[in-house]
Amino acid sequence: MTFDKFDLDKRLMKGIAAMGYERPTPIQDATIPLALKGRDLIGSAQTGTGKTAAFGLPILQRLLEGRRGTFRALILSPTRELAVQIDQSLKSYAKHTKLQVLAIYGGVSYGPQEERLKQGVDVIVATPGRLLDHIQRGRIKFKTLETLVLDEADRMLDMGFLPDINRILSYLPSERQTMMFSATMPSEIQALAGKMLLNPEHVQVGLRSSAAVGITHAVYPVSAHLKADLLLAILRETQSPSVLVFTRTKRRADRVEKLLAKSGKKIAVIHGDRTQKQRTAALDGFKQGKYQVLVATDIAARGLDVEAITHVINFDVPGTPEDYVHRIGRTARMAALGDAFTLVSPEEEMLMREVEQHLGHALPRVALRDFKYDTPAPERSIGLQKASVNTPTVKKSFFSPKRPKLPRKK
Ligand code: AMP
Repeated sequence: MTFDKFDLDKRLMKGIAAMGYERPTPIQDATIPLALKGRDLIGSAQTGTGKTAAFGLPILQRLLEGRRGTFRALILSPTRELAVQIDQSLKSYAKHTKLQVLAIYGGVSYGPQEERLKQGVDVIVATPGRLLDHIQRGRIKFKTLETLVLDEADRMLDMGFLPDINRILSYLPSERQTMMFSATMPSEIQALAGKMLLNPEHVQVGLRSSAAVGITHAVYPVSAHLKADLLLAILRETQSPSVLVFTRTKRRADRVEKLLAKSGKKIAVIHGDRTQKQRTAALDGFKQGKYQVLVATDIAARGLDVEAITHVINFDVPGTPEDYVHRIGRTARMAALGDAFTLVSPEEEMLMREVEQHLGHALPRVALRDFKYDTPAPERSIGLQKASVNTPTVKKSFFSPKRPKLPRKK
């Protein structure tokens, strides 16, 4: 089946064709007809499944049918990077129309965003904080708003955006279409949905909270003090042109960057303490192949769409199983193949078991050939040994009795 069945405006069809989309993905199949009818919906889909077009195309279609140059659709995103990505996708779909899409996010000056707002826009893609700033400065009014999308809702809540979201909701007209997307559906998300949505349709693609398909997972048990050497050895072995390495903290991301500089590979880093300019340069450089390795904290774990990432390496086990799903969702996008490696120190085994319970099965333990796993720790620490695994981000809900049991080891 092609996109023809949705009866979209031919200008949008031209945009889709130029993106190389031939057939709708399952989430698009399920979402587009409902969203075109103006239904509220809650979508739970694996990462990289084509969510942006699933909500973006119906929004653009409905905008084409009404008044132009009036602010009628708002998309909220947890991170600047995801906001930019959604903005770029919508602009591509709408390339042959006169619809104006604007991304609003922090870390850059207000001037150009205010200028564009004055000129009139149809769609705003925003991060909550900067949107509230513009609201307070009186630059944005919501009288004409018709559609709200909350993307990566679970991430928004994890990042502490709930008060901001509630404030934004208080400005919006109650009569509107609302769509909420979340890769995972913890109870907080369901509560938010109950408040925001009216008779929503549920669209679920793939198993709830499941990891993207096409990924080979492997766990490398290793002493904490040898993680850095093992990472270097794995990078040498895989020779992948595009590897995303995750660390649990910003400091560890900076340290891993320094350490990898020895490998002769081109490395970039992305985390919350880098300026927006640095973050954009790192991400663009990685997308264009200028950097072979991007070291990131979880800020980069959700939503980022970089084609052809072949390996995700968790230098540290993520603090929550949901973060594992999101991190590895950066590889194997659109059902390509990818590898997800996790370096696990004995102190992190408990967190790893949480991840396995969440996935419903144990992951294979592997060892790199010829790597000297018994090298003793040096006298002085260089600071990368200790990953504090007792981070408070491990939430009680992860011990929910509903979680599948880990198969017993034979
Ligand atoms: P998303 O989940 O929206 O971030 O999309 C993931 C990737 O899939 C992006 O590179 C999209 O451009 C691409 N994509 C989305 N829909 C389709 C489709 N129907 N056919 C091919 N690629 C698609």
